[in-house]
Amino acid sequence: MKRFNIAIDGPAGAGKSTIAKLVAKKTGFIYVDTGAMYRAIALFMLEHEIAPGDEQAVSQAVKEVKITLCYEDGIQQVICNGENVSGRIRTEEVGNAASAVSAYPATRGHLLALQRELAASQNVIMDGRDIGTCILPDADVKIYLTASTGVRALRRCKELTDKGIMCNLEEIEQDIRERDERDQNRAVSPLRQAEDALLIDSSDLTVNQVIDKILQAAASRGLQIP
Ligand code: C5P
Repeated sequence: MKRFNIAIDGPAGAGKSTIAKLVAKKTGFIYVDTGAMYRAIALFMLEHEIAPGDEQAVSQAVKEVKITLCYEDGIQQVICNGENVSGRIRTEEVGNAASAVSAYPATRGHLLALQRELAASQNVIMDGRDIGTCILPDADVKIYLTASTGVRALRRCKELTDKGIMCNLEEIEQDIRERDERDQNRAVSPLRQAEDALLIDSSDLTVNQVIDKILQAAASRGLQIP
């Protein structure tokens, strides 16, 4: 049976995972967070003292990394070589390392088949940077979700302070700019809006307004929402 796939791409902090999780709940789709897979590979490198900037070493070591996903109470868990690393991949250090290692063709190639298989076997809403442009070019709905750098930095800061982690807004904003720059300008699968993607700038929208736009787009492509 043909599966219905929704692809959401966009820069760091645009709200992709918050939105995708809620759309998954409303549609009964599986939410696939591809950033978590790159983060798991980055964590592996950091834990094995392999510098994320060393393309040759990372490209060699990534062959040893087996990533699988499972779901506990509907929440995605990332398993790396048999170990659940979901709790350890959410730091800024791992995020920055993920941005570095994800630029290498060997890393991207390593995850491509897994991401496509997940989308072929079930209805998914998958978020990342190259889902609409490269992983699922035939996705039924493609969304490019963005927001201004200032708004994204504020959101990330709030996320961290809510978890009791101190943060500096200017540093976070600088970090976001650097990550955008790397993600948008890398040679393989750079972050960009697919030609047939719907652009949503969430800077001045509520979460529910963004969700409604995505559900409307899905309905216009024939999805019947329960
Ligand atoms: O989305 P998240 O911040 O968890 O992703 C971490 C990093 O992984 C991103 O900054 C990006 O460089 C990389 N990534 C990617 N392609 C994806 C998902 C994430 O290059 N599909």
